[in-house]
Parts: sequence; structure tokens; C-alpha cells
Amino acid sequence: METDKKKDIKSFTLSQLKDEMESMGEKPFRAKQLYEWMHNKLAVSYEEMTNIPKTLSDKCMERYSYTALEILQVQESRIDGTRKYLFGLADGNTVESVWMRYKHGNSVCISSQVGCRMGCRFCASTLDGLERSLLPSEMLDQVYAVIRHTGERVSNVVVMGSGEPMDNFDNLLQFITLLTDENGLHISQRNVTVSTCGIVPKMYQLADRELQITLAVSLHAATDEKRRKLMPVADSFSLSELMDACASYFEKTGRRLTFEYSLVKDVNDTDEDARQLAALIGGLNCHVNLIPVNPVREREYVQSERRAVDAFKNKLEKNGINVTIRREMGRDIDGACGQLRRRYMNDRGKKQQGGTYSA
Ligand code: SAH
Repeated sequence: METDKKKDIKSFTLSQLKDEMESMGEKPFRAKQLYEWMHNKLAVSYEEMTNIPKTLSDKCMERYSYTALEILQVQESRIDGTRKYLFGLADGNTVESVWMRYKHGNSVCISSQVGCRMGCRFCASTLDGLERSLLPSEMLDQVYAVIRHTGERVSNVVVMGSGEPMDNFDNLLQFITLLTDENGLHISQRNVTVSTCGIVPKMYQLADRELQITLAVSLHAATDEKRRKLMPVADSFSLSELMDACASYFEKTGRRLTFEYSLVKDVNDTDEDARQLAALIGGLNCHVNLIPVNPVREREYVQSERRAVDAFKNKLEKNGINVTIRREMGRDIDGACGQLRRRYMNDRGKKQQGGTYSA
């Protein structure tokens, strides 16, 4: 919870902030006021905090860092209004978030890390590896910035952008605590989804917290052999270990699991693949999200044909499994994880290079 060695004020829970105020010789009610400005009124600086004396805000500025994101780009889909944001962080890094409007409310998909070190073959976020993990406040800021920008409420938050949330476990938990806190946005745990590539020990640790969030597990293949070709994490954990962790998550929390399965033409989209998947997960209380793979320029993977996607869905349904085909929101914008950031960084690189040449 540190940037530039200063503690990060927006990553404190209310009770931690009370302790901080106390250590500064301030009254506890100041903690409540500050917390409310940060997590309820979504203030981006102390200047907005009209009931906080300047002496206190000066002290806070000296002691703590205050994260805020800069909106670098917004792309809006002409098809469904989905918006993709590229945010600048204080250290010059960038992250992406997506805002989607559904019948049941607005949803924000946030990133948990800058880049990713999981190496999934079809994913753009991981192409340059992991830059760093995000602070709890930097995950919150993505939600807050979107609310400020759209002027609309958000009812669902999904941690499904760039990064592997289980690789940033403590900050993820603190983020969930703050996001669902009654003194902040008070988003229901049931409306929070965390997606993992399947880091088994962390899944057990998460289950131990007995949260009511939804755990989404990226499966993408139903045999170890095939999964290893798509996801290096499969070298560390077998499918049988992963399935045990899923069963245990359900036992502990009572929450139905979601499995994500990105369909890649001629790689994992055959009848046999569907049969194996049904056999693998048939015994679990779960739901499958089929995602026609989003082609990434640097990768050769091709999206399954509509017919294959439908056939795959039917086969699973015949086996009594709940399936949805993920609506391709924002098809006309850089929808796949990490693509917008990548393009931005590449453009920036080219510009910088261009400058050198002309000098
Ligand atoms: N690290 C987390 C969150 C990643 S992104 C995880 O692995 O679950 C959320 C989902 O999108 C994951 O299922 C991921 O495998 C999938 N994904 C990434 N790139 C994709 C692409 N180009 N096309 C389709 N799905 C993709």
C-alpha cells in the first residue's frame, strides 16, 4: 500500500484511517469526513473537500499519497454504447477499464495489474509481461473515474481487465473491502466478480474468506494437454487440482462458479472439446461463459465460426450445463484485454522514435 514510500490514503479502510488520524492528533470524525469525500463523493483532490481545514489537508498531503487517474482516451462503441477508457497512473503507466450498460445496471470491468505475467497465448495484456500490480486505490479509481465521467451509477464490478487478480491478492482483498463498504459505494459482494486463470492456492485462500463474490475461472480447455498449450499456468496446476479448488470454493461460499471458455477456431471448439468440457465440469454447480476469441494482432488465433459456437453451446446444454455466449460488447472498439493500452503505447513509442529521427 505504498507509492513513493508515502502511505496511500485512499487504500485505508475507515478504521485504519481513524488510527492514522489519531496518530496525527486529529479527531476520529475527520477520518469519517475524509473517507466520505474519497469513497462516496469520489473527490479527486483535497481541494474538493470543503469541510476539511487547510491545515489538515496540508498535513495529509505531506504524509500520504493521493491517487487519481488521468483520462487519456475514451472510445465509445457506436453499436452498444460500451466505453473503453485508457487511464494514466501517477507513475506514467497506463491501464484500461471498460464500462458496459446492461438491462440490470451498469458494469465496470477493471484491471488489477499493469501488464500480466501469466503468459496466456491469446491475450494481449501479457505480451510485454508484468509492469507492476495496482494498489487498492488504483483499482477503486477506475470505478470512481468511470462514475464521474458517465454521471451514472455502477451496480456491478468485474475484475476481468488486464492482470491476474490472484497475483495481487492482498490488494485485491482490500479493494473488495473498500468497494463493498457501506460508507463507500456499498456495492454488493454478489455484484463483484473476480476472474482468475486458476492459481489454485490463492483460490483456496479466497474461499477461506467466505466472501459472496463470484469467482470466474478461465478454463479454455478441458484436457491438461490442450490447456498447457494455451495457458502456461496449466504447467503448475493440473485440471484435477483446479476442479478440486473450484468444488471447495462452492462448498465454502455457496456461490456458483463461472467458467470462461474462449473459443478458438480448430483449437478448442470441436464437438469432442465440448464433450470433454461437459464431463469435466458436469458435477459442479456452475455456469459457462463462451467467448469467441478476440483476435490479437500479435497472435495467430482465429475466432470460431458462429456455427461452431452455437454447436458448442448446444452440446453443453444437452448435458445440463448453463451456458451463455458472451455478448461481444464494443466489437468496434479495441475490446480485447490490453489492446487499447498496447496501441497507445506503440503509438507513443513511434512518436518518440520519430522525434529522435527528425532531431
Ligand atoms: N487474469 C484473469 C483475468 C483476465 S481477462 C483471468 O485469466 O481470468 C478475462 C478473460 O478474458 C479471461 O478468461 C481471459 O482468458 C480472456 N481473454 C483474454 N484475452 C482474450 C482474447 N483475445 N479473446 C478472448 N478472451 C480473452
